[in-house]
Amino acid sequence: MNSRRFAGKQRPMNSKNPKVGPKVGIVSLGCAKALVDSERILTRLRAEGYDISDSYQGADVVIVNTCGFLDSARAESLEAIGEAVAENGRVIVTGCMGGDEAAIRAIHPQVLSVTGAHQYEAVVAAVHQAVPPVDNPFVGLVPPEGLHLTPHHYAYLKISEGCNHSCKFCIIPSLRGSLTSRPAAEILGEAERLAEAGVKELLVISQDTGAYGLDLGHSESIWHGRPVKARLTELASALGELGVWIRLHYVYPYPHVDELIPLMADGKILPYLDIPFQHASPRVLKAMRRPADQEKTLERIRRWRQDCPDLAIRSTFIVGFPGETEEDFENLLQWLEEAQLDRVGCFKYENVAGAAANALPDHMDEDVKEERFTRFMEAARQVSDARMATKVGTVIEVLIDEVDEDGAVGRSKADSPEVDGEVFLDDGDGLAPGDIVRAEVIAAEDYDLWATPQGKIEVPRPRFPRFSL
Ligand code: SF4
Repeated sequence: MNSRRFAGKQRPMNSKNPKVGPKVGIVSLGCAKALVDSERILTRLRAEGYDISDSYQGADVVIVNTCGFLDSARAESLEAIGEAVAENGRVIVTGCMGGDEAAIRAIHPQVLSVTGAHQYEAVVAAVHQAVPPVDNPFVGLVPPEGLHLTPHHYAYLKISEGCNHSCKFCIIPSLRGSLTSRPAAEILGEAERLAEAGVKELLVISQDTGAYGLDLGHSESIWHGRPVKARLTELASALGELGVWIRLHYVYPYPHVDELIPLMADGKILPYLDIPFQHASPRVLKAMRRPADQEKTLERIRRWRQDCPDLAIRSTFIVGFPGETEEDFENLLQWLEEAQLDRVGCFKYENVAGAAANALPDHMDEDVKEERFTRFMEAARQVSDARMATKVGTVIEVLIDEVDEDGAVGRSKADSPEVDGEVFLDDGDGLAPGDIVRAEVIAAEDYDLWATPQGKIEVPRPRFPRFSL
């Protein structure tokens, strides 16, 4: 084989995790832009746990990134595909010549898939089909079944697995085990690669984000020559240097969560906190085995908002937990009114096989759960509606998710994808998914905003060195 064309070099997998991912080889032809495409594809695959092979024989599948600029380049591309088919047999074709699938299939009908230039998602999907990723929660960026739903401009960043709590309605600790955190440098390396691949927003996830690093004794690891502690404040601060939106999900309200607020006020990470409060009645929280001082939490929320007025707080709740009285539920509604949470999700309690709550007395009738759910969601809608109305006339930043002939749809810093509100722009001219624009809010309703774009914001390139092959 012609090793000059083989862009991949072997990299060791995470030594803490003996499970080795499938190996992908890549033959990169053509100009620097095509090489960047190859880098982005590899970065994405690497972030999912695939290893990179530097030989045809060591690869489970080979990607040929073709060039179609000149006839000679087309001939060379066809020759390279033929070589990969002969040497390995499992070949995915992409790049400029991929636009002429018929010409490729006329000579190499056995190739697994053909796509054109910049079609990263299609190439990654073809690799998944040829060699599924290893289900390794420490290497995987998102569960394999969810990745294809994630657009190119945002990605989930998993920082730990498992949980040390024992909430009675939850079986996560028995499924995933106790808290196991990734070293900070490993997470930051993955975040860098994603930022380099064009991701504009990283959504930090885990079962218990606030507890990050507890199991590692908050030990340091070296990132770009400097030590970074495995602790949420230090990790969030370092992530904040990458030049992309950093959004924190599933932050249990430990005291040190207060330390994140200055990072938000300084614009290092998004002023957004997703805290799953679950309930507000001390009696129900105790029955759930959750921390039970919601009065103190109200005080903290007030302080957080004083220090960071733009802070958006999202939470999820459970109504109809066994033994929840009408008084408990009223207590929850009143707390919600006082807390003025920006974003709220709600579940009607249901048994989960193996959960301790199943054995509790006084399970609710379904119609009572339904009635409380409806009242709760209406109360939450009213809070959101009033808070959104205060944004009319202000100028906000919007990350674009979709563009069509009617305009564009995006999200403000207060909106996480899939779960929160949207911002509808009346003009999508010149915009593309992943752009960030300044926009003046002209209307608001329930959870959503309508706005007029005022121009793109050029996000400076991250300051870290490029991820090289
Ligand atoms: S609900 Fe969250 S904090 Fe409680 S046990 Fe489950 S994963 Fe842990």
